[in-house]
Amino acid sequence: RNVSAARWTADDVAFGAEDLTRPQNLVFGVDVFSPAVQRQRLPKDVYKRLQRTLERGEALDVSLADAVASAMKEWALEKGATHYTHWFQPLTGSTAEKHDSFFGPTGDGNAIAEFSGKELIQGEPDASSFPTGGIRATFEARGYTAWDPTSPAFILENPNGALLCIPTAFTSWTGEALDTKIPLLRSMDALSKAAIRGLRLLGDNDPQRVFTTIGAEQEYFLIDEQYYYERPDLQITGRTLFGAQPPKGHELDDHYFGSIPERVLAYMMDTERQLNKLGVPVKTRHNEVAPGQYELAPLFETSNVAADHQHLVMQVMEQTAPRYGLVALLHEKPFAGVNGSGKHNNWSMGTDLGGNLLDPGDTPHENLVFLFFCAAVIKAVNEHAGLLRATAANVGQDHRLGANEAPPAIISIFLGAELEAVFEAIESGEGDPSSPGSFLGLGTPVLPPLPRHGGDRNRTSPFAFTGNKFEFRALGSSQSLGFTNTVLNTIAAEAIDALADQLEAKIEAGSELAASVTEVVREVYSANKRVVFGGDGYAQEWQDEAAARGLKNLRTTPDALPEIVAPEVISVFEKYEVLSAREVEARYEILLEQYGVKLNIEAETAATIARTLILPAAVSQLKRLQDVGLDAAVAETKALTEELYAAILELEEQNRIEGELGELEHVLFLRDHVIPAMLGVREVADKLEKIVADDLWPLPRYSEMLFIK
Ligand code: ADP
Ligand code: MG
Repeated sequence: RNVSAARWTADDVAFGAEDLTRPQNLVFGVDVFSPAVQRQRLPKDVYKRLQRTLERGEALDVSLADAVASAMKEWALEKGATHYTHWFQPLTGSTAEKHDSFFGPTGDGNAIAEFSGKELIQGEPDASSFPTGGIRATFEARGYTAWDPTSPAFILENPNGALLCIPTAFTSWTGEALDTKIPLLRSMDALSKAAIRGLRLLGDNDPQRVFTTIGAEQEYFLIDEQYYYERPDLQITGRTLFGAQPPKGHELDDHYFGSIPERVLAYMMDTERQLNKLGVPVKTRHNEVAPGQYELAPLFETSNVAADHQHLVMQVMEQTAPRYGLVALLHEKPFAGVNGSGKHNNWSMGTDLGGNLLDPGDTPHENLVFLFFCAAVIKAVNEHAGLLRATAANVGQDHRLGANEAPPAIISIFLGAELEAVFEAIESGEGDPSSPGSFLGLGTPVLPPLPRHGGDRNRTSPFAFTGNKFEFRALGSSQSLGFTNTVLNTIAAEAIDALADQLEAKIEAGSELAASVTEVVREVYSANKRVVFGGDGYAQEWQDEAAARGLKNLRTTPDALPEIVAPEVISVFEKYEVLSAREVEARYEILLEQYGVKLNIEAETAATIARTLILPAAVSQLKRLQDVGLDAAVAETKALTEELYAAILELEEQNRIEGELGELEHVLFLRDHVIPAMLGVREVADKLEKIVADDLWPLPRYSEMLFIK
């Protein structure tokens, strides 16, 4: 095959090529309207007032908007921008933008650049076709976008011009959140309030705000673009619906952490350079487990900025690949039988003074703080395991979670042997601060040293403590960080408040601080330790043990999604003013609908490919064999061809039901009837792939897509 790999040379990549020679640190953040740029360009008092607003997490004073807009416009025009957009994250799971020109007519036939404070802080896109989950009737199609000054504006370059992107929130005209950003910001506020309350009780009066942080590791595949365009399934659904396994022995290729092929490296460097310009602190790159699979990871940032940046990572990755004759696949499971792609969500809580609440630290006091917040996370995850699982649910994830390559669908916490021993000791009383021999004795360096990378030793856990943060490993490679982190922050806020209530009661009853904290940690750990598990998450024994412990095992998306509307979930979202009941229900409906629509499209695509590409190939093969009278081979091919045809009819029959059933019933039907029918077609098709002549087979093979770099 005439693959793009053969055509590609470094000279082909003219766009932005001059920058390829510049060290990354020279370009970092050059396309961002960062605090440093703001300081240079804004009047001093405006800059100070804006920073103060941001530090305190307060609402923006509109009187600042005009001054900021004017400075932003000048900066953007100097950078070559012709248009601006409110850049937002509707509930489609991706980003949206509607471009407006800076230029307006002056009346004398000329045009001048215009951009006011009003245009900066509020937009009104025609939003009628974004998903709303029934929140907004179509006759009230208005939606508003509102500037999020905590996430800096940036410039997206294009060979023919540049675009100023203003990160914004997206609401209905009634003020309900129609995006992933608003709830995330609300949850960060809720967590900050609860954590500050906890810190005050623990005797820390200095921090004024607590920020949650995320570092997201992104896995992805790269394949040659020619193969992509020859595979309607990849184009339409993001994954291969057919494809026989490559011959054994291919996997001996030492791909994981192996040297990176030149074309791929050139792609990575280009992608990273663009992301660096956008202020995304990309740090690591390497080959992943599967052939053709790679990973990119940035340094952690404040949650809402990290979530915005994660969308930029996915966007730049996808847009850059064609420059190198490649396509980046972000689907969770592009190839059956081959490792899928996830997105590890490293999460912690940090103070405005730079402290990390999940870092054990060196002093007895730091250890008390750590134990308090760590115990709160254990409680939060135990009490809301189903919800957390639901945030990682989508149609692609059903091929991955629990499939011996990703964490199981059972949410459990890995603490590492050392930390688990500490909690066990506290529970059993060995960790009593009043007993002098105990390692939690006052005045002694309390916790034994915990290895920073202790958590890395167990890759089978969905929620692992990794030294100074928790790593939620169940998220899928195509997913937005928004909902998962909204949930993490909200349930952590609730648990921190619960621990704070307990601590307050003990202190008021006259108990000393260290003893009270230890007592609270003992009670909380004891009540929630069923979620702590250090063994092999992939083993069948864990499935059994988890069931015995009463942990939920929500295997598929339709099993998991109803957790989102469980009464205790709605009540925690409402209590912390993160999502109203209506906003929660809207999300549930949208997620169910997306699952149903995507499966339906997969089934139709599978049937069409089978009928119009695979069946004709099988028939041609059959004719060839009949022409030379190879009877045994004719019989074999004929039987498979008939089987294929029957399987196609069965799939078409099952997929016809669509539309007549209610939502949850509908997706359950798709799961239980349409997926097996699709697999039925695939099974025969993959057998045919192994016997049909190479020149007749219509689809690129796994061995070509995965191994040609
Ligand atoms: P690994 O061994 O998994 O590669 P690293 O220490 O390199 O672990 O971190 C992986 C990710 O975790 C990176 O994105 C890193 O920035 C992020 N991370 C580190 N500290 C924190 C933190 N306090 N909060 C959130 N993410 C963090
Ligand atoms: Mg990791």
